[in-house]
Amino acid sequence: MSHPRTVLITGGNRGIGRAIAEEFVAQGHRVAVTARSGEGPEGTLTVRADVTDAASIDAAFSEVENQLGPVEVLVANAGITRDTLLLRMSDEDFTDVIETNLTGSFRVVKRASKGMLKARFGRIILVSSVVGLLGSAGQVNYSASKSGLVGMARSLTRELGARGITANVVAPGFIETDMTAELGEELQDTYKKQIPAGRFATASEVARVITWLASDDAAYVSGAVIPVDGGLGMGH
Ligand code: NDP
Repeated sequence: MSHPRTVLITGGNRGIGRAIAEEFVAQGHRVAVTARSGEGPEGTLTVRADVTDAASIDAAFSEVENQLGPVEVLVANAGITRDTLLLRMSDEDFTDVIETNLTGSFRVVKRASKGMLKARFGRIILVSSVVGLLGSAGQVNYSASKSGLVGMARSLTRELGARGITANVVAPGFIETDMTAELGEELQDTYKKQIPAGRFATASEVARVITWLASDDAAYVSGAVIPVDGGLGMGH
């Protein structure tokens, strides 16, 4: 088993982020989650933060550092969608999604890197999406924000790679969450026909890829895009 690490996951109160937090706890790590509302799962420290607000991120990191030690593993998971077709997409629909998914990830990565550089160890994991590289009608804003994370992880790898820090992207496909439950059974079946695996994934199937990337076994994996999509994307 890997060394116990101090882990911070953004958006750990529900969905995929919550499953990631549960998996790190189960593997014996010290786990904190950020939440705007609600709480992280049992065994985690919940800190309040909004990724669009740098001051709240700084305060949240300070609290984690005081209670659990410097963050060694960062999972930038918080994300939103504002889906609509291009001609209906407002500037606000576009910038809100970029602000949370892309700039929000930049803010937490920057704050986490201070401690990682000092420790000469770090694992940065950015949660993207299959549509980042595949594209998706109605998601010009979202897919742009998610492909931006690939450039970010690869630049981080070049900038920080010699200091024991890795940066990778995980690109989930369809995951059983509140978001996909809203699609309705008929639409879900249509999507399932396009997925080679023939099914959606559980959030814990994404979580276990992320805990592996944070583990000692993945020390030489950096700048990678790891799909967890049942073969939907292929070609990353
Ligand atoms: P959910 O909508 O279930 O959860 C989103 C999480 O992000 C919540 O914890 C939410 O907090 C948090 N969040 C949103 N905006 C902010 C903000 N400004 N500051 C801090 N936290 C914020 O999403 P999922 O679990 O489905 O998705 C998690 C990640 O995985 C996202 O990045 C998403 O793009 C990606 N993804 C999801 C897929 C899926 O099929 N579900 C597929 C591919 C990628 P709060 O509860 O306070 O709103």
